[in-house]
Amino acid sequence: MQIYGYQRTGFTGTLLQVQASRTSTRFTIRGLSLDKSSRLKQDLRAYYQAPLPKLSIQVPPYASLECILAPVLLVLLCMEKNLLEISNHAILLYGTIDISGTLVSPPPLQRELTQLCKEAGISLVITGENIPTVHNGISCPSIASSLSQLWRFALRHPENEIQNKETDKKQTLEEDPFYGILGLQEAKQALCYAVAGELPLLFYGPPGSGKSLLLNRTKALLPPLKGERAQEVWAIQGKHSIESPLLRLEAGMSQQKILAGTPPWISRAHGGALLVDELSNQKPKVRTTLAQLLDTHQVGDFPLHYSMVAATNGCRCANLGNPHGICRCTQAQIDQFWGLIGWPLLDRFAIALALEPEPLLAGTVEAFHVDRKAMEHVRSLQSVRKQEGVAHLFPRYSKVMAHTQRSLRRAKLCCSLAQVIADWEGKESVTQEMMEKAYSLYLLPKDRHYH
Ligand SMILES: [Zn+2]
Repeated sequence: MQIYGYQRTGFTGTLLQVQASRTSTRFTIRGLSLDKSSRLKQDLRAYYQAPLPKLSIQVPPYASLECILAPVLLVLLCMEKNLLEISNHAILLYGTIDISGTLVSPPPLQRELTQLCKEAGISLVITGENIPTVHNGISCPSIASSLSQLWRFALRHPENEIQNKETDKKQTLEEDPFYGILGLQEAKQALCYAVAGELPLLFYGPPGSGKSLLLNRTKALLPPLKGERAQEVWAIQGKHSIESPLLRLEAGMSQQKILAGTPPWISRAHGGALLVDELSNQKPKVRTTLAQLLDTHQVGDFPLHYSMVAATNGCRCANLGNPHGICRCTQAQIDQFWGLIGWPLLDRFAIALALEPEPLLAGTVEAFHVDRKAMEHVRSLQSVRKQEGVAHLFPRYSKVMAHTQRSLRRAKLCCSLAQVIADWEGKESVTQEMMEKAYSLYLLPKDRHYH
């Protein structure tokens, strides 16, 4: 096991690698100045219950005492339990210890932290309980409790599969579009269905649940352009390419800007994907326009078929669905939040999936295999499926729905998704199970009973 600490300098940070080896002599710290290392030893004695063990510890020379204390202490405890030897995972202890022994974490720069973890092949991030859980993270009140979490983690994940893959196969995003994102298997599969069938998808959940991470991988999933679609995209973009376009709708863009130009700005997403992060921060008129465009599939004289992938928090305080943060929004406030996003738009998503920060100890670190053949197969059937319609699937839908009332639009979207699932799996017809799966992939907070 390899333990890292983290040091923030201005707007960036670095990982602090702590290396340890057993020695036959006394406890030594290498890398720091004499003065710094003797002060670190003093601090360690204050927290480490026994005499310092016979170890040689190497730390980066620029490490500050405050930032290096907690990771070194964790290394000492791990050595005691032989934990460093039995596991090859890289672990980040993101935090410092305060005077009472509590683990306290600096506010994370999410993007930077994710990048650093990816580069170092970090499998687990341990943070204090003072911040919302970060991606791939668990929060612990103290170093002692993080040690027991590490034990459980090492036992459940004996091999660092992610790191092995990186060195063995040099996986690229093209080979694994979800490279570096652990767990979230259902959400990854849902995104594949959405892209394959050009169905609008919404991820919602608290910060750190991975919704923006997944959204940003959409491009790697998009299949190459073919046939008539490629011609249309060529006409709109003015250049020949087989690469599917990707358009990002930034929060704050105006409705005029989206529709402006010839061809209109938004038509540049035709044939590819439209990413809408922070859906609740988009202008109301923009959300209305998005809803309309999902009906017309046309803007002016230009065709408009794309996979719309959107993300939003679940409530105003953003903590809805966060097991480590308390959402104090009342049911009425949550309803109001979703009402402001707008039911007409929400009703047009085929998939609405709640994401929760994945408890890694219970999750899986297996890589997710994107079935490119299935993706192409679903795509190639799209025009046939559109002609057929989904009316023949309504009886099966009614069976799944039992007696609950839903709109005709929901019926159509659920059946379309079930058809995509069947095509993805290469099955002749839609089974009851597929319909149930499709149905379960559209649940809004009001259907989930959070409170
Ligand atoms: Zn809330």
